Amino acid sequence: MIPISKVELGAAEEELVLQVLRSGQLAQGFMVERFERSFAPFAGTEHAVAASSGTTALVLAFRVLDLQPGDEIVTSPFTFAATVNAALEAGATVRFVDIRSDDFGLDASLLDAAVNERTRAIVPVHLYGQAANMPAIMAIAESNGIAVVEDACQAHGASIDGSSVGGIGLMGCFSFYATKNVTTGEGGMVTTNDGCLADRLRLLRAQGMRRRYEFEEPGYNYRLTELQAAIGIPQLERLHERTERRRRNATRLTNGLAGIPGLVTPVALLGRDHVYHQYTVRVTAESRMNRDELVSALEDHGIGCGVYYPRSLAHYDCYRQHPRVLTDERMPIAESMAREVMSLPVHPWLTSDDVDEVLAVIQKLLG
Ligand SMILES: *Cc1c(COP(=O)(O)O)cnc(C)c1O
Repeated sequence: MIPISKVELGAAEEELVLQVLRSGQLAQGFMVERFERSFAPFAGTEHAVAASSGTTALVLAFRVLDLQPGDEIVTSPFTFAATVNAALEAGATVRFVDIRSDDFGLDASLLDAAVNERTRAIVPVHLYGQAANMPAIMAIAESNGIAVVEDACQAHGASIDGSSVGGIGLMGCFSFYATKNVTTGEGGMVTTNDGCLADRLRLLRAQGMRRRYEFEEPGYNYRLTELQAAIGIPQLERLHERTERRRRNATRLTNGLAGIPGLVTPVALLGRDHVYHQYTVRVTAESRMNRDELVSALEDHGIGCGVYYPRSLAHYDCYRQHPRVLTDERMPIAESMAREVMSLPVHPWLTSDDVDEVLAVIQKLLG
């Protein structure tokens, strides 16, 4: 079986985890601080605030916007539910806007019609490891005085026109869940250049407590542990090299899959450094098999694949019927992407033979 993702931790992680175990300090301390300091450069920001997950990082980011009832955030319906769950948790009303079929991110040309006097944030999701169209999104946000919170949970180290994701908008949110390009098992990070926001994110992360029992506002316990930080630090040191391996695998897949009718390989857009969290193809009507048939045929041949995501969030009853989710418009691109997309293994531990096998099986099935 060739798995869709793989976690490999080495001697450096073991060493650092042991150091934590022997120190007796398990709750957030020096190691978390060290993890934050090492992470900030990947987003190109001055500050990085660790959290217990990508979801809680997003909740913190939305909370510091001080949303009032009725205040809206605009985001994509073609994302992991955490983007929306976090916004709802922080009191936002969520307005969905359709995406593009080349980068799977928010379609900036639809934003002007979607924003209004209640819009407080635009939340682009850098899906699969490629940046959304940030120059266009930032231009609309800035001309309307709206904040941008980047969901960079799938895009550690990705950039657009030389700017790292997570450092372009007011805040960026990252995840270190098991399958992400950097993992701590569970974990997250908020990045920002705003020192006041960073201070407030830190406060809210730990019950709103400035010093022992000095509470400034009601907060949470969203802290990361020292053990998790110890697993994350060595991976940051090797992130660039691992991303290069993902890119090499992606290039080989794209070359090998060229010309197969009905199979659209990922578009590497000009100026965007894709970090290939997922290598996602589209299976269109011209294909010999539809997407679901291809997924099960590949799995029968021992090739793990995934569908991210099988439905637009706008189509789930729990969101469609939610009083704070606005989905009045049809979103044709998100809907067709949900029918067409599937992800193939691209992780750094694929061997050259693994890639050859993936290509051979797809050629046999669709060529
Ligand atoms: C993984 C992910 C999250 C949530 O991160 P967790 O660490 O699982 O809470 C949010 N948004 C997107 C796009 C993700 O892929």
